[in-house]
Amino acid sequence: MDVRVRFAPSPTGFVHVGSLRTALYNYLFAKQKKGKYILRVEDTDRNRKVEGAIEGMLGAMEWARVPHDEGVKLVDDQLMDVGEHGPYTQSERLSIYKEHIEILLANKSAYHCFCSKERIDKLREEQKNKGLTPRYDKKCLQFSKEEIDTKINAEEQHVIRLNLPTDRDIEFKDIVRGEVVVNTDDLDDQVLVKSDGFPTYHFAVVVDDHLMKISHIIRGEEWLISTPKHIFLYEAFGWEIPQYVHLPNILNADKKKLSKRQGDVAVEDFTRKGYLPEALINYIALVGWSPEDNQEIFTMEELIEKFSLERISKSGGVFDVNKLNWVNAHYIKESSLERITDMAIPHLIEKEYITEQQATENYEWIKDMVSVFKDRLSFVAEVVDEVNIFLNNDIDIEEEEAVALLNCEHVPQLLEVLIEKIENAEEIDLQFGKKVFKEIQKETGIKGAKLFKPARVIFTGKTHGPDMPLVMKVLGKKNLLARIENAKKYIN
Ligand code: GLU
Repeated sequence: MDVRVRFAPSPTGFVHVGSLRTALYNYLFAKQKKGKYILRVEDTDRNRKVEGAIEGMLGAMEWARVPHDEGVKLVDDQLMDVGEHGPYTQSERLSIYKEHIEILLANKSAYHCFCSKERIDKLREEQKNKGLTPRYDKKCLQFSKEEIDTKINAEEQHVIRLNLPTDRDIEFKDIVRGEVVVNTDDLDDQVLVKSDGFPTYHFAVVVDDHLMKISHIIRGEEWLISTPKHIFLYEAFGWEIPQYVHLPNILNADKKKLSKRQGDVAVEDFTRKGYLPEALINYIALVGWSPEDNQEIFTMEELIEKFSLERISKSGGVFDVNKLNWVNAHYIKESSLERITDMAIPHLIEKEYITEQQATENYEWIKDMVSVFKDRLSFVAEVVDEVNIFLNNDIDIEEEEAVALLNCEHVPQLLEVLIEKIENAEEIDLQFGKKVFKEIQKETGIKGAKLFKPARVIFTGKTHGPDMPLVMKVLGKKNLLARIENAKKYIN
């Protein structure tokens, strides 16, 4: 069997990390099986359409490096169909749905319904009050072909519904869930075509997946309850049923479905904060799927090799930001200094710590500065907090321990030699920082913690922090001397 899978987002504005994971699993499976991965835009819900959402979504997928083989692509800023099974946007496939609904009407798997919204609402209310599952009562099935034609000719508003049989078990196998059985008495006669002539998701998805020759449907578990209706549609058309794979939800720490209200959930949020695509992909792959061993860091190639539908878990995976940060920190460490500096610069400009011109002119200096804390970042936007230590020489020395260190007996002498050495230095480079402390030790006898701890407080205001020679290099002569003056204020 040729593996053909698809990611079928609705363009509603932003890309939830759960959608990214769905896309990723489809991609990994397709690549592993040498199949095709298709991206189809499901935009039949005209009320939810958001301008620019398709472009944004394609941008997010490109950023995440999960490219599709077929479907809607952005080429030179233009949306284009690539592949032989298009159009790949549902709103451009209306004639296809029209043609297919006729098949279902003809074989009585679907019927016209002229009931008003008021009648349906009332019916549901009554059923609910009686403790019954709210569902349409098939009233409109009573109309003859002539009556239906007359109503349609008179332009009476109507929808087209699925005609489910009563009391029939619909069974299917889901690769994650196993056997699923649902009785049609628990299902409603789903609307397939809305009064505006647009298909509903349920109808369009079946027609498209069949025509696009989709072999495996890998999607979120919220669609599991709809699948029996889809199966019924496949049967009504006489089509082969694809394999189903319903992915567990991604949950918050409180075990509720991950939602926007509780923090970052959009891929765009993570991009903006300076997460690396390979980190988000690596992390998200593990929320709901696990490898056979305890490996935690994966390249995309390794994921393609090791991924398996069978190892997707049934229960929801918790989205743990701390774990994501750990994975991201790993990839930041592995990345080149240039890459992280380039990602840091827009954050520094946005905070007005530097101008665009300075970013170009002082690139090497910024790079040095970033190198001071690169290995401590969880995500690149954190630079704006870290750079603080370089931006202001009038540091408020707040830690009690820091002030105590400055008030040690030997500190005035230390300050004096530091001033002399810094003033006389030709250049404050890395070498300077390394050798100056050795010299001071030799000349004054001040050594170890007595030397390094006050020095760190003098130059950074803190008792702990990054590597001193590098900090000194980034600060340079003028700032180092200014900070020595500032430290004097704290000596009683
Ligand atoms: N358009 C649906 C969504 O956005 C796709 C569901 C499916 O994959 O069948 O979730």
